[in-house]
Amino acid sequence: MSASKHWIERGLTCVAKTYGRYPLVAASGEGCWLTDVDGKKYLDFLAGVAVNSLGHCHPKVVAALQEQAGKLLHCSNFYHIPQQIELAELLCRHSFGDRVFFCNSGAEANEAAMKLVRKHSAEKHGVNRFEVITALASFHGRTLGTISATGQEKVRAGFAPMVPGFKYVPFGNIQALRTAINPNTCAIMLEPVQGEGGVNVPPAGYLQAVRELCDEKGLLLVFDEVQVGCGRTGSLFAYQHDNVEPDIMTLAKALAGGPPIGAMIAREQYAETLGPGTHGSTFGGNPLMAAAGLAAMRVLIEDGVLDNCVTMGDYLRQQLETLKEKYDFIIEVRGRGLILGMELSIDGGEMVKTALERGLLINCTVGKVLRFLPPLTVSRDEIDQMLDILDGILIEYREKNND
Ligand SMILES: *Cc1c(COP(=O)(O)O)cnc(C)c1O
Repeated sequence: MSASKHWIERGLTCVAKTYGRYPLVAASGEGCWLTDVDGKKYLDFLAGVAVNSLGHCHPKVVAALQEQAGKLLHCSNFYHIPQQIELAELLCRHSFGDRVFFCNSGAEANEAAMKLVRKHSAEKHGVNRFEVITALASFHGRTLGTISATGQEKVRAGFAPMVPGFKYVPFGNIQALRTAINPNTCAIMLEPVQGEGGVNVPPAGYLQAVRELCDEKGLLLVFDEVQVGCGRTGSLFAYQHDNVEPDIMTLAKALAGGPPIGAMIAREQYAETLGPGTHGSTFGGNPLMAAAGLAAMRVLIEDGVLDNCVTMGDYLRQQLETLKEKYDFIIEVRGRGLILGMELSIDGGEMVKTALERGLLINCTVGKVLRFLPPLTVSRDEIDQMLDILDGILIEYREKNND
C-alpha cells in the first residue's frame, strides 16, 4: 500500500468529516511546490487558500520561527510582547490604522470587528443600533457570529438561530445598500474583492460610494481583507486600489506567511472602545506567530514581492483571457493581482480533480469558478507549466463533449 493510501485510510477513522478532502497527503513544500508522502510533486496554485503567499517555507519566515522558538514560545497578554508590538507598529505604519488587536484566524478577527462596532454604536447611539449590513456571496468565517454575517445560505444551513443583526445586499450595488440602511444600522462590512463567493470585483467607484454613504449616515466601514489583504491583489492591502480607507480592517491568512495569525486593525477613535477586559485571546499575538508575521510582512514589503504579484498577475490574466477566446464554455476571467477567477458555464469540480491527478493544485468556488491563488512569488515559467496542464484539461473536456 502506498504511504498516501495508508494515511487516507487512517484519517477516515478518526478525523472529523468537515472537509471533502482530495487524495493528497502533504509532506513538504518549497516555493510553489508541494510534495506528498509518496514523493509526487504538485504545482501549488491554491497556496493553502491564499495563506502561503510567500511560497512554502519561505527561508526568512522559517528562520524567524526557529530563532523565536528557542527563546520564548508563549507569553500571556497580561505582559508586553516585543514581537507583537513591532508587528503592530509595522501594520499601522503601512495602513490607515492606529491600533491592532491580534488573534489566530480570520473568523476571530471578524468577531473582534463585529464586537467593536456593536460596542461603539451602543455607547454612542444606544443599544438598539446594532445592525451590520454585509454582502450576498460574502464569506466571513465559520463561527456562529461570522456565519451570521456571511451572505451565503449554504454556510448557515442547519445552524439556526443565527446571531441577530445582519442584513445582506447584492455586492456592488450602491442603491441596494442605501435602501437597506435603517435607524438600527451601525456598520457595513465588505470584502473589497469577494474570494469564496466566486472572485467578485465590484464596479469601479463602488467602494468609494460605500465610504461616502458611511460618512453621510455615520456608519463604520469594515473591510474583511482576510483573503485579499497582505499583497494578494498587488498592493499591500486591497483597499489601496480604490482610494478609500475603512475604519476597521481584518487580516489573517497570509499575514504570517503560513503560520496561524489574525489581526483587527482600527482607527484610534474606534479602537479605544475595546478597553481592558472587553475582549481577548490567549494565543493572540504570541511571540512565535508575531515573529513569523514580522518576517513575512518585511519580505512582502522589502523583497519585491508586490511587484512580482502585479507583473505575474497581469501575465496570468492575459493568458487566461487567451484561453477564454479558445473555449466557449469559459464565460469570464476576473480578479485583481494574483487572485483570479475563471467562470465556466459548466461544473468545474471534475477539472480540479483531473488537475490534481496531473500535479496541479487549483480550486473551484461556487461550483463553476476556477480560482487561481498561487504564491505571490510565482515565476513566469511556473505559470506556463500551470497553463499547459490547464489547457490540456480544457481541450479534453471540449473533445469529450463534442463527440
Ligand atoms: C478565509 C476567510 C475568512 C475566515 O478565516 P479563518 O481563518 O478560516 O477563520 C474570513 N473572511 C474571508 C474573506 C476569508 O477568505
